[in-house]
Amino acid sequence: MHSATVQPILTSPFAFPRRTLIDSILNLLFPVACVVCRAQVLERRWGAACPDCWSRLEPLAPPFCPQCGEPAPAIEGLCGRCRKGEYAFDLARSALFFTDTLREMIHHLKYAERVSLARSLGDILKVCLEHEPFSGRVVVPVPLHRKRERERGFNQAELIAARLGRSLETRLLRRRKNTPSQTGLSRSERKRNLAGAFEVRGPVAGTVILVDDVYTTGSTVHEIARTLKRAGAQRVEVLTVARVSNDFYRAAETDISEAV
Ligand SMILES: [Zn+2]
Ligand SMILES: [Zn+2]
Repeated sequence: MHSATVQPILTSPFAFPRRTLIDSILNLLFPVACVVCRAQVLERRWGAACPDCWSRLEPLAPPFCPQCGEPAPAIEGLCGRCRKGEYAFDLARSALFFTDTLREMIHHLKYAERVSLARSLGDILKVCLEHEPFSGRVVVPVPLHRKRERERGFNQAELIAARLGRSLETRLLRRRKNTPSQTGLSRSERKRNLAGAFEVRGPVAGTVILVDDVYTTGSTVHEIARTLKRAGAQRVEVLTVARVSNDFYRAAETDISEAV
């Protein structure tokens, strides 16, 4: 559906590299299977997924709501939620649709420690950051609760954000509550879960760019934006790798429960 726009985002500025001698040696000693299709990954620069699967990702292209980035068949002006002022953030953009291929990649990054995927996803996100109207300089990854980060060994949002080439603030925000998955909850349940879930430590001013792997309902980033603004941020911009779009685009079989 969006294949016409895949090439520019995924090959610029990073063309898929040719296989190097080092790759050939590593392939013999430590073969890597693509986390999506299980084919052997021969060009290893892009991590544990093969070039075919990378090029199958679907960039999120217009039309979308100019504020929250919600994809829509034909939007003129803001979407209904932004018109009602439901979001505390000022801008949200995502690089890619949350397709089955991307869900596999993010799932393996988070639960199977395929951290090499964070590098490539971060590079794709950087292209989005540079092409969309972001004005912030400071990047804040959405934090995990301490307990969850300790279990996982890393915060995937932080690994992705580290590729953006902006100054990274990893201690500004703390997750106080180990909130359960928001999937399948109603809006009021999500709101109750998230109330007071985040805490700002230290002074905030100007514009903050908030980075996460997946944007689902916007309720988490809304809550963080509210918290950051109460602490002094003037503007909060949200940048995520993946977007779980509204029903218009979401493939019926896309299962969001595992990755989010
Ligand atoms: Zn593959
Ligand atoms: Zn909107």
